[in-house]
Amino acid sequence: AKADGKGIWRAFEPEMAHRARARQAIETDIRKAVEERRFHLAYQPLVDMKSRHVRTFEALLRWDHPERGSVSPQEFIPVVEDLGLIVSLGRWVLETACLQCLKWPEDIRVAVNLSSLQFRDGNFLEVVRQTLKQTGLPASRLELEITESVLLHNEAGALKDLAGLSRMGVRLALDDFGTGYSSLSYLRWLKLDKIKIDRAFVRDIGQDPKSLKLIAGIVSLAKELGLSVTVEGVETRQQLALLEEIGQIDELQGYLFSKPLHIDETLTLIASLSQK
Ligand code: C2E
Ligand code: CA
Ligand code: CA
Ligand code: CA
Repeated sequence: AKADGKGIWRAFEPEMAHRARARQAIETDIRKAVEERRFHLAYQPLVDMKSRHVRTFEALLRWDHPERGSVSPQEFIPVVEDLGLIVSLGRWVLETACLQCLKWPEDIRVAVNLSSLQFRDGNFLEVVRQTLKQTGLPASRLELEITESVLLHNEAGALKDLAGLSRMGVRLALDDFGTGYSSLSYLRWLKLDKIKIDRAFVRDIGQDPKSLKLIAGIVSLAKELGLSVTVEGVETRQQLALLEEIGQIDELQGYLFSKPLHIDETLTLIASLSQK
């Protein structure tokens, strides 16, 4: 487009119309997908730093799109939330993950990601209780991953639900730790079992001594508070070596160990693990 106002506008208008149409298309697609449950869960192992055993698999949602194949949740979760469909989809994820976990050895648990909107209507605690009861999965085998935004909507209700979940024996992990601006105060308010250090910190630890120091600081703080620590996004041997130097980290997760796996691959991996 030319640099004059009109030129820019002319170039801009079709672009906006195009975006609105694209958004419409994805909304229609997503509504149908949620109705028909056109999703599956992929599972990524969390590896114990010392023993290299796998005690947890994180369930990661995938949309099976007829033309685009497997679509990442980053693209569609915000749309699902805007359309008010996340509570329904979130229940499906929870139930599917619990049923899947039941087929694994008893010392392996499943971690499920939650949208903060699932806490908004105030009966999430009941949803979890019912799901555990109906599927028969012990609460101790379920871990829920929440982010700081959980306290954004219905703060009192969310705190009450989280306390109730913790009393039930469900484990709570604070995801993407370090990326928000109030992470530290959340450690005071929430009854957590684990923090997951965001992969943004891990990415540059090879080149940037500050990132490494930040991780070391977060780890020692978490340990001081009695929390378990997972580091996400470990992709290289160099990163692993640096993390091992820090020590005290409980679990590692990332492409170096495994990408998120289809359920068949998950079962194959579990069968191949010789751990006790
Ligand atoms: P997350 O919870 O932080 O999940 C980790 C993301 O990092 C996953 O992306 C995973 O595939 C990716 N990842 C794992 N290891 C590596 C690595 O070594 N390097 C890199 N570059 N990436 C790695 P994914 O599956 O696309 O999920 C994106 C986000 O979508 C998740 O981030 C989570 O916030 C959200 N999400 C996933 N499943 C669900 C769900 O069932 N419900 C809700 N509400 N959100 C979900
Ligand atoms: Ca997560
Ligand atoms: Ca994360
Ligand atoms: Ca994330």
